[in-house]
Amino acid sequence: MNLSIIIPVYNESKNIPVLYNELNEVLPGLNKKYEIIFINDGSSDNTLENLKEVYSKDRKVRIIDLKRNFGQTAAIAAGFELAEGEIVVTMDGDLQNNPKDIPKLLEKINEGFDVVSGWRRKRKDFFLRVMLSRVASYLISGMLGLKLHDYGCTLKAYQKKIVKDINLYGDMHRFIPAVAHATGARITEIEVNHRPRKYEQSKYSLNRIIKVSLDLLLLAFLSEYHTKPIRFFGGLGLISFLLGIVSVIVLIYMKVISGIDMTGNPLIILATLFILVSMQFISIGLVSEINIRTYYESQNKKIYSIKEVI
Ligand code: UDP
Ligand code: MG
Repeated sequence: MNLSIIIPVYNESKNIPVLYNELNEVLPGLNKKYEIIFINDGSSDNTLENLKEVYSKDRKVRIIDLKRNFGQTAAIAAGFELAEGEIVVTMDGDLQNNPKDIPKLLEKINEGFDVVSGWRRKRKDFFLRVMLSRVASYLISGMLGLKLHDYGCTLKAYQKKIVKDINLYGDMHRFIPAVAHATGARITEIEVNHRPRKYEQSKYSLNRIIKVSLDLLLLAFLSEYHTKPIRFFGGLGLISFLLGIVSVIVLIYMKVISGIDMTGNPLIILATLFILVSMQFISIGLVSEINIRTYYESQNKKIYSIKEVI
């Protein structure tokens, strides 16, 4: 199998037949052995029936029917798990991505890139969403060290080994390029089409901001401190300890030199707080460090990945 197309769908009933027809105009012309994997993410409308209808006509279509709605990232992960293609392409099932862009993505993969990410330069969503998404991509680029204009675009192509090596959690499918980048993969982006949603509704509201921010925070931490948590927590602990010591010195100075009473002085509470918090941070750091080391040693995992030994 050369190519797997992975499409998570949640209540996209009306989009299924149209999308299938669009795919059918592009994929057979590629001269590749391909499969189209639809993941039905617990839809409550006719999505599953419509998928079965398509399947009955074309056995290159596969359906993964999840037991309930697990979310887009989980649905994509299920698709990755079953994908047999050497190259894997993900896309939305709501017709906002255009299958006509698939050949362009594949060209870049053939040039030797491990991940090709779509950039919806002329995006057809409402203004606030587009702006927020741009800001998010900018922040993610800075925090994770891989500059992409559009982290939110699902239309992407991957070498199979990339997706098989990455475990997905939370809402993290959008961060795969950055995670792959951290392991040394070659990433590029190309402009892709984007269309307004015609049928059914968007599955997300603005509370996605909170989820994505937390995922980003976690990833930024992992990418920098995954194998050395003591540096992060220990660092915070030491800063807090220093602030505590400074507070104590100021307290003593106030009492001895200026004769200000120590009892009832807010600084005494602050000093205690800083020192307690520093102990907490250092303990968290030590425990995390022991955990990660025990894990790496028990799994015989390495803190590096070799490209080739010549
Ligand atoms: N989706 C999914 N499970 C969910 C939410 C969304 O499989 O819990 C699918 C959805 O059917 C669509 C894709 O993920 O194919 C992107 O969702 P949507 O178009 O609502 O996102 P937006 O384009 O509004 O960011
Ligand atoms: Mg959409």
